[in-house]
Amino acid sequence: MISPKKIAVVGQGVIGLTCASRLLDRGYSVDIFSREELQETTSLAAGAYWWPHKVYPKERVSAWSKETYDEYVKLRSIPESGIYFEKHYRFCLDMDDSAYALQLVDKWEEIDGARYGFPCEQAFRVVLPVIDVPTFMPYLKSMLQSRGASFHIRHLESPAQLFPEFDLAVNCSGVWAHYFVGDKDVFPIRGQTVRISLPGGLKQSTRLYQKDDRFTLVLPRSHDAILGGTAQDGNWDRHPSAGDTEKIFLQCAEIVPEIVESEILGSSVGLRPGRKAVRLELELIAPDQPVIHNYGHGGGGYTVAWGCANEVAKITAEYFS
Ligand SMILES: Cc1cc2nc3c(=O)[nH]c(=O)nc-3n(C[C@H](O)[C@H](O)[C@H](O)COP(=O)(O)OP(=O)(O)OC[C@H]3O[C@@H](n4cnc5c(N)ncnc54)[C@H](O)[C@@H]3O)c2cc1C
Repeated sequence: MISPKKIAVVGQGVIGLTCASRLLDRGYSVDIFSREELQETTSLAAGAYWWPHKVYPKERVSAWSKETYDEYVKLRSIPESGIYFEKHYRFCLDMDDSAYALQLVDKWEEIDGARYGFPCEQAFRVVLPVIDVPTFMPYLKSMLQSRGASFHIRHLESPAQLFPEFDLAVNCSGVWAHYFVGDKDVFPIRGQTVRISLPGGLKQSTRLYQKDDRFTLVLPRSHDAILGGTAQDGNWDRHPSAGDTEKIFLQCAEIVPEIVESEILGSSVGLRPGRKAVRLELELIAPDQPVIHNYGHGGGGYTVAWGCANEVAKITAEYFS
């Protein structure tokens, strides 16, 4: 019997884990490397819900987002997955350049923002997938472990280190691609969020109020609620700031007064991997050293992950055929 091709996935964020899943589907042997524990990744600092925020280019993102949406439709029937669908109210003071995503979902309607107290350019009510990150990511990881994937905590200097032990490497290093492959087009978009106790009267629906680059988000989850947030380009600071925590809480209380009685449970920071376009392509870094890059998903990693993973698996199969 021919032994399966050995693939190294760099990164145990949402991008790395979804790729690992699709590569296992195709019968490859998969090892996953991460320089940090799962809890420390950007992916664990996210809210998160399905929406292509700050992820480009539109045409590819649109196709990846649709495939990812369809995967969440399947996952919502598995309660342990942490995927569910909820109403989302979106109030945009300026035209929303990501509104094309409405064409990809099953249910949405335009609403009059003024009726909700938010006179704005565009407002929508839309049913969207919510990813309960602290449930979904460990679920995905344990699925991969039970299917034979191996996990290693190790800081790698460059993809070349993985050869000749592996037949192919997939680079899902997120914002750290800036150093890992020296891609200076990748930059951090610092996102701080605040976690609060779930207010009794708060219905399971997300509210978002957006003006230019500033957004105010209240995202109830099964056991808590996430408040957002910041989007600071070029800021590598991973420590939560007390000033931001207070500002975020007050901004959110203005749009959803029900949260005022909630307890603040903590704050966290993640560095979204900003890039003018996602880099998803095969590169031969030397003869017989194929690397598929898959990074730069900005504020939309959870929105495009499964579509990107499908493409990575397809490129891998084509390379070995
Ligand atoms: C506050 C906030 C809210 C967000 N909300 C949403 C949302 O609602 N919806 C949405 O779709 N997206 C959202 N995002 C964006 C989303 O979280 C990111 O796009 C996504 O997490 C990026 O995933 P990733 O796997 O590429 O990166 P990461 O999660 O950062 O994972 C990178 C992995 O690579 C590893 N790595 C890097 N370099 C090396 C190395 N040299 N050696 C070994 N390992 C290495 C790291 O250790 C890590 O395991 C949000 C992000 C933030 C911060």
